Amino acid sequence: MFYVGFCRICGTGPLGLRRCGGCGQIAIFCDECESAWPDSDLAAAPTTGDYAPCPKCRRSLLDKPSHWATAAEIAATDWLQQAFRSDHLRLHYGSS
Ligand SMILES: [Zn+2]
Ligand SMILES: [Zn+2]
Repeated sequence: MFYVGFCRICGTGPLGLRRCGGCGQIAIFCDECESAWPDSDLAAAPTTGDYAPCPKCRRSLLDKPSHWATAAEIAATDWLQQAFRSDHLRLHYGSS
């Protein structure tokens, strides 16, 4: 999975890039505590809930067809590319 750092909420979870099966948007999603953010503003309050709702459409980010975003999906997402260009986020790859 691609991730952009570690979660300030739980302190240990990698912040993965999760593509929502409902709206098709990419959310930043903690693999550990399942906090979710709709964009690169990680200082904002995350979306939480016991079924891991998408911050944009409230569909579950865990249920299929939601999945960890691919390199092509990340490359096509403007707000992520802007965050990488400005060094606000850094892209890493690791096993989940
Ligand atoms: Zn969604
Ligand atoms: Zn977390």
